[in-house]
Amino acid sequence: MRPPRNDMTDLEKNPAMTGSMQHWPLLIWKLIDHAALNHPATEIVTRTVEGPLHRSTWAQAHTRAKRVAGALRALGVQAGDRVGTLAWNTVRHLECWYGISGMGAVAHTINPRLFVDQIVYIVNHARDRVLFFDLSFVDLVRQIAPRLETVEHFVILTDGEHMPPQEAARLLCYEDLLAMQNGDEPWAELDENSPAGLCYTSGTTGNPKGVLYTHRSTVLHAWSVCQPDLLGMSARTSALPVVPMFHANAWGIPHAAAAVGAKLVMPGPDLAAPALQRLIVDERVTLTAAVPTVWLAVLAHLEREGGDLGVLERLIIGGAAAPPSMIEAFEQRYGVSVAHMWGATELSPVGSSGMLCASAAALSPARQLELKCTQGRAPFGVEMVLRDDEGRTLPRDGVQRGRLAVRGPWVVDRYFDSEGGHARDRRDADDWFDTGDIATIDERGYMRIVDRAKDVIKSGGEWISSIELENAAMGCPGVAEVAVIGVDDPKWGERPAMLLTREAGAAVAQADVKAWLRERVAKWWMPEHVIFIESMPHTATGKIMKTALREQFGAAGSKPEKGGVKP
Ligand code: AMP
Repeated sequence: MRPPRNDMTDLEKNPAMTGSMQHWPLLIWKLIDHAALNHPATEIVTRTVEGPLHRSTWAQAHTRAKRVAGALRALGVQAGDRVGTLAWNTVRHLECWYGISGMGAVAHTINPRLFVDQIVYIVNHARDRVLFFDLSFVDLVRQIAPRLETVEHFVILTDGEHMPPQEAARLLCYEDLLAMQNGDEPWAELDENSPAGLCYTSGTTGNPKGVLYTHRSTVLHAWSVCQPDLLGMSARTSALPVVPMFHANAWGIPHAAAAVGAKLVMPGPDLAAPALQRLIVDERVTLTAAVPTVWLAVLAHLEREGGDLGVLERLIIGGAAAPPSMIEAFEQRYGVSVAHMWGATELSPVGSSGMLCASAAALSPARQLELKCTQGRAPFGVEMVLRDDEGRTLPRDGVQRGRLAVRGPWVVDRYFDSEGGHARDRRDADDWFDTGDIATIDERGYMRIVDRAKDVIKSGGEWISSIELENAAMGCPGVAEVAVIGVDDPKWGERPAMLLTREAGAAVAQADVKAWLRERVAKWWMPEHVIFIESMPHTATGKIMKTALREQFGAAGSKPEKGGVKP
């Protein structure tokens, strides 16, 4: 071999070299290290489970997260072990998140609104060794503890004064555990692809499936959601995540807040509209996020009681489709900019946002509202494609509807410890994740969810979007919530049935809804049945539970007996 010439560059001498920048693994604890160093006095305010408002800072949360890490090591927890949390959005829960992943274990957030059997299933499936839980869940934990096969330590997230006396002997007290640590526990030096968080999807069929996030996926997601077209977070933000940390990581807000040094306002267990409005005003909240049902209640409260939303700039609605009437009401009556967001547990969870792009500024207000009601455009890091039932890619023309598939560094690859394992759609070599949503994408990249694949109504071979029908009916005065399901029809195969609830004190009737819809939807979309019900069933993540409605009203495909609606 010829010796290298003196004038050769490093790359010419060694074509296999990988570049010469530092290797800095993307680890979650670096987020809170950054916040504590650069934004030490920025506040984290919590409405506590015990009642009073509690004020902490990033510096304090950092030290206490290190104490959590030390306490877990003292309890024998090892890197890779799962540690469960059954907790509201509070600073203690935040400390647990950073402490658990910071010592190399996996923070497994458990949704307390799931059925008891599902909670037992996921704790056992995850093989949680320690369970941290709020005082609100003492009865629940007492009930399930005998069925939990792997939990060795139960820790109540409270202090000695509030420990339930009859439990004290069997349970560990969070503040006592932390008091035994000095707060200078070293973080774990890990590969950035190590697991850090675990969240189970609340599937309506079969057992819940676990999504095991990595340090890298979490940090990249946090970085991304800070961007102006997503959550738009900065060191001037005061963020109120109403969306729970146990549902898809509170949309990344607790991690993103550390990345930029934002103030966090944690609502604890009181998610009722009056409490949220008070927090928004008193804590000068500029950004907040939740599912549509939460904002429906806040709107109704504001309309009833008067009042405003303080200095709130941006309100994010996601998890289910935001009705246009709600976006309009917040923007026009309360001067808040509303962004619609779409995502899923499998996407960490954020996949797109409906912020307007520059070319949309020239559009009419009505057309702008239409765009805001779409689920929006993908950020860098999320690739989207629409495909037909044969797996062929569909054009981005805003018209053709297909199954929405995604891929990217914060999209699930395979479910945690599941048989078969792969979450990816393996029909082609590119391994996209099929979201189960039916959507269109337009030339600007705005994606619109038409339906869940399992909710779409096929009438006479044509599709009727349950979401579009629901959106149309939501604007009808006096209507509180709407769900549209498919019901069997001997002639058309399926026809839409609309279930509604009324706002308190409203007298809106079937004929009013039909008249309202007649002006807004195609004739063949008119629901076959319009039925008012007492209350709308919701899932553990605050979405309308269509499976329950299908069972109750004998809808297509999933009913105990066939033969149309049971009024
Ligand atoms: P989850 O994993 O519980 O967050 O559920 C994810 C699913 O919620 C998505 O696949 C969508 O069907 C639905 N979803 C989330 N965000 C939206 C949205 N903005 N509009 C309509 N559906 C949504």
